[in-house]
Amino acid sequence: MRNNLIAFMPIILLFLATIFFGIWVYRDAKAHGENGLLWLCVVILVPNGLGVVLYLLLVKRDQKKLCPKCGTHNPMGNKHCGSCGEDLDSVRLESDQGSKIWIPALVLLILGILWFIGIVVTTWPQ
Ligand SMILES: [Zn+2]
Repeated sequence: MRNNLIAFMPIILLFLATIFFGIWVYRDAKAHGENGLLWLCVVILVPNGLGVVLYLLLVKRDQKKLCPKCGTHNPMGNKHCGSCGEDLDSVRLESDQGSKIWIPALVLLILGILWFIGIVVTTWPQ
């Protein structure tokens, strides 16, 4: 019974990671004015976390400036807001908010280490 649990651990872990990244990508995509549901589907349907990688490559690289006055997403090169004309030179990059990107990665790493320790402990010759 114990061995069964160990065998299923990677699957459970992968499942949890998919849910975790799914929620994170959904929220992040919405914050960037992207289609959150679409990206959620990508993360769930593309196996082995490649959906997340895809998201990071396609959306995160596309940095935009958020207008502090009207909330419009402006292209990086814009010096002024395309909607209200607000000066965007002093605006912090939106991607700064994405610096929490290491949190899910850290959680996965910890889970992976715990799983590894679990295997070592439970299969160690008595
Ligand atoms: Zn504006």
